[in-house]
Amino acid sequence: MSDSSLCKIVIVGGGLTGLSAAFYIRKYYREKGLNPQITVLEKGKKLGGMIETLHRDGFVIEKGPDSFLARKTAMIDLAKELELDHELVQQNPQSKKTYIVSRGKLHPMPGGLVLGIPTEIGPFIRTGLISNIGKIRAALDFVKPARKDAGDESLGHFIERRLGSEVLENVAEPLLAGIYAGDTKQLSLLATFPQFAEVEKAYGSLIRGMMTGRKPVETHTGTKRSAFLTFRQGLQSLIHGLIHELHDVDLRTETEAVAIQAAGQDGYEVELGGGEKLLAGEVVIASPAFAAADLLRPHMDCSLLDTINYVSVANVVLAFDKQDFGTEFDGSGFLVPRKEGRNITACTWTSTKWLHTSPDDKVLLRCYIGRSGAEENVFLPDEELTALVLKDLKEVMGLDAKPLFTEITRLPKSMPQYPVGHLDNIERLQQELRNKLPGVYMTGAAFRGVGMPDCIKQAKELALEMADSR
Ligand SMILES: Cc1cc2nc3c(=O)[nH]c(=O)nc-3n(C[C@H](O)[C@H](O)[C@H](O)COP(=O)(O)OP(=O)(O)OC[C@H]3O[C@@H](n4cnc5c(N)ncnc54)[C@H](O)[C@@H]3O)c2cc1C
Repeated sequence: MSDSSLCKIVIVGGGLTGLSAAFYIRKYYREKGLNPQITVLEKGKKLGGMIETLHRDGFVIEKGPDSFLARKTAMIDLAKELELDHELVQQNPQSKKTYIVSRGKLHPMPGGLVLGIPTEIGPFIRTGLISNIGKIRAALDFVKPARKDAGDESLGHFIERRLGSEVLENVAEPLLAGIYAGDTKQLSLLATFPQFAEVEKAYGSLIRGMMTGRKPVETHTGTKRSAFLTFRQGLQSLIHGLIHELHDVDLRTETEAVAIQAAGQDGYEVELGGGEKLLAGEVVIASPAFAAADLLRPHMDCSLLDTINYVSVANVVLAFDKQDFGTEFDGSGFLVPRKEGRNITACTWTSTKWLHTSPDDKVLLRCYIGRSGAEENVFLPDEELTALVLKDLKEVMGLDAKPLFTEITRLPKSMPQYPVGHLDNIERLQQELRNKLPGVYMTGAAFRGVGMPDCIKQAKELALEMADSR
């Protein structure tokens, strides 16, 4: 390829978004006959950002995310491109039941809940999680007119407006807010669950619309596929696959981007922590919003980036001997509504939900700590945190067994909270960036979806946009 085809690109952030951006930029630029010279800068010691798998004593332990939604296909598509799709595993079909804590006790979630919204009348009428008055209030959804205003509102206000506060607090909130470790009354409806707003508009009723739109996930052979998938050797397989594929990309760990300056004809100069400066025609910022703001503040108003708060969370993984454990699980775990006032926000019965994660004679549990407005426990010393978790497990599950070991992972400022108006804010920010620093881009979990498939999709769309603009 000629020199004129050479394009230098720096990507800030070596998490899933940054690595996927490198993968797709390389692919689409090459398809155009261009020769992209890509450098990925990662501040931390390892690539993958939040994604990290630990292999210990026959267990596969996820320290960050643990699985992904199959219906958002970007992750499966990337796995196929990396020839890793044979490594994908489904959730144990015998573990579909999820429990929810109500007044300190475990109750099965009523059948037919889709994203916390009832879509089967019978199980909803029978559930002990909602009082009769709460059920009558939820049924008003069938007759309550749809909101005329198409603007954003909070997820919590939306569910409360359609289905009442009991459905919100006892069922929907722990499920929906759990994904963001957030407070539904602060999260943007349009940026988190836009389908709810679309359903209200199209059907007038959330329940009726969700009932109509409900369809099983089918595989190409026509069998029902699990809603969630992961990789047999853990999610880090995908990161390893990307690193392997990106052998001709300059992947630098323990390298922080500290400033971006305009460099005339050459585009930009990215300054590294050690003082080195890299020239780049294009720069992709795939870091959390607060780190992007540090880089962009000298050039533009970053107050809208500052509206994206981050919540700190931790997870405590506990391994047990099955013979000490006593209980056999018939589900995937339980969720804890905020009003229960517990230390843990949820618990996954990992060895039952994901059969590959544990030897047959062992049990693996994963407990989640921290959510918006309740983050102090995340930073407790290990022993105190483990004691709080075991106290909750004893009270909720009657668990007395002593763990063989515990693995604690703290993820400070890891969960972006999309505020009401987020999508409009992002549009304005991107516009401002295009005007002030053409050729500099921002993408990742802070913007259009926190799930891993959302991050890949955003990176892929950006790569296409960049390739098309050349
Ligand atoms: C506890 C937890 C559980 C989750 N569970 C799931 C799940 O089960 N399923 C799912 O789909 N999603 C899940 N998510 C969400 C998902 O993991 C993340 O949204 C996704 O991994 C974010 O990827 P990213 O590359 O955008 O950001 P990150 O992983 O945060 O990567 C950004 C990288 O940028 C680096 N960086 C920052 N500033 C600089 C700088 N100045 N210079 C160089 N590098 C810099 C950081 O060190 C970091 O490595 C979970 C998230 C958390 C925290």
